[in-house]
Amino acid sequence: MPEMPKNLPQPQLKPNTEVVLQKRYLRKNLDGQIVETPRDLFWRVASSIAVEEEKYEGSSQKCPQLARDFYDIMTSWKFLPNSPTLMNAGTDLGQLSACFVLPVGDSIEEIFDAVKYAAMIHKSGGGTGFSFSRLRPKDSRVGSTGGVASGPVSFLRIFNTATEQIKQGGTRRGANMGILRVDHPDILEFIGAKEKEGEFNNFNLSVGLTEAFMQAVEKDEHYDLVSPGNGEVMKRLPAREIFDLLVRKAWLSGDPGIVFLDRINRDNPTPDQGDIESTNPCGEQPLLPFEACNLGSINLSCFHVPGHENDADPAAKGIDWDELRRVVHLGVRFLDNVIDASRFPLDRISETVRKNRKIGLGVMGFADLLFQLGVAYDSQQGIDLGERIMAFVQEEGHKASAVLAQERGPFPAYETSMYARRKLGPYRNATVTTIAPTGTLSIIAGCSSGVEPLFALCFTRNILDGERLVEVNPHFAAALEDGGLFSHELMDAVVAKGSIQDMDYLPAPMRKVFVTAMDIAPVWHLRMQAAFQRHTDNAVSKTVNLLNSATEQDIREIYWLAYQEGCKGVTVYRDGCKSIQVLATGEGQ
Ligand code: ADP
Repeated sequence: MPEMPKNLPQPQLKPNTEVVLQKRYLRKNLDGQIVETPRDLFWRVASSIAVEEEKYEGSSQKCPQLARDFYDIMTSWKFLPNSPTLMNAGTDLGQLSACFVLPVGDSIEEIFDAVKYAAMIHKSGGGTGFSFSRLRPKDSRVGSTGGVASGPVSFLRIFNTATEQIKQGGTRRGANMGILRVDHPDILEFIGAKEKEGEFNNFNLSVGLTEAFMQAVEKDEHYDLVSPGNGEVMKRLPAREIFDLLVRKAWLSGDPGIVFLDRINRDNPTPDQGDIESTNPCGEQPLLPFEACNLGSINLSCFHVPGHENDADPAAKGIDWDELRRVVHLGVRFLDNVIDASRFPLDRISETVRKNRKIGLGVMGFADLLFQLGVAYDSQQGIDLGERIMAFVQEEGHKASAVLAQERGPFPAYETSMYARRKLGPYRNATVTTIAPTGTLSIIAGCSSGVEPLFALCFTRNILDGERLVEVNPHFAAALEDGGLFSHELMDAVVAKGSIQDMDYLPAPMRKVFVTAMDIAPVWHLRMQAAFQRHTDNAVSKTVNLLNSATEQDIREIYWLAYQEGCKGVTVYRDGCKSIQVLATGEGQ
């Protein structure tokens, strides 16, 4: 590995970065003492990922310089890989992916294999998704014993309990996604599974909706519930009633969510390897059984060029597109190298990952960039900007993957993939882009998370057990300073409220731009998700926030719009409803 250069600059840490790094990321010895500095950490990651370059003869990059480039894009907070890469790169563990999907087969052996594999993945910092749709329904016969099966929901409990017991290095509790198809005979039990407070609290649950189901809802028809083993139609249910039940549950507690399985499979780049049945825990990464994916996120707020806020098109010169292009290309190379550097807990996973080489490059700091450019999130201009940025990241990301394919060869399953069939590519990676939640990464980078609006302009954040940090969004603070409006009384008022919408003594243009999640009408949340989805290979992590006073009809409309707009799933959250989220973004993780 390249030696750390003597003049390597120290990273300039953002206010909260140090605390988070100390708690979670800096390596510790057996006595729990921290044995590396933030500079050591970023060099460990940069150098161990860059060194993978050396095994490719045709590489256009030289390892020591590449290590330095990787170090620089991370420590300027322009790009960060997902948490397991920061934690484990260059260590003995070497498990660098955040996202996994495991199959759950319809036998006791296969179920308990999956429990074991999930435990191994959680131990290494990854999150797991499972489809329970292959399990035979409750009360059906079990051939070998003459008994009756207990069904998906009862097995789900075993996975939940196992997760509870495995604390990930004392810092990261395991996270899971559980999916059941809407046409599984046990769907009603699954929909009600989280009704009791605290039940299945290590799981996000989503119902897998099919095109056939959505059409039955539209036509107000019944649809078939099918036993997965033998294809027998066991029952028929009125589709609209089930859809309404899902809406009601989302209104009550936010659980379960929905994913559009046929949409996900329409974009499956390697259909010859089977259907995609599940996503990772937060829903942004659909994967085949035994597949894993590593993510990385570009912090858009670092690419702002000041002084163009009043231009007719503030993004044209207000974004450093050349630098964004450079970082996208470096980011794709970084993430592709991560695949080679990763050691997975199971050979089956290594094989599947190396066949398709999926990576997930995304963005964070989008809401910050909108503040910097003076563009409102809930405006057509905001949506157009999101779409334009992601189209750019997608196009450049694919170009970067094509360059890697020339240097290193396409992903091994390329010949049978959709890209080859459509005469696209060749590419090094079966997927290139994903919009992750960036729960912790955004704290490290000091920016807004993913493509979400800010939750509040000023707030106190509980970062880890009992520690609290007060935060004022820096772009909001700067705008107040510029306008000569900054005062401690105002700050106190904003901390109390989170939002400035009813402070009519503040200028109207400022109130229009500095909007928070709750100020934004649900339909704009959804439109933004759809705009990013149009240019993302995988999926978009996004919550549609609703006021406490929102109605079931509001949720029904959002679900329907998500379906029409081609989203791969929807997560709604009504303020003050009682759901305990597995991954409350950033807080309490
Ligand atoms: P980070 O910011 O820590 O890199 P994200 O919030 O972007 O992580 O989440 C990305 C993915 O990482 C999730 O969808 C999930 O697959 C995995 N993940 C996040 N938090 C956890 C956790 N506590 N345990 C296991 N996996 C997690």
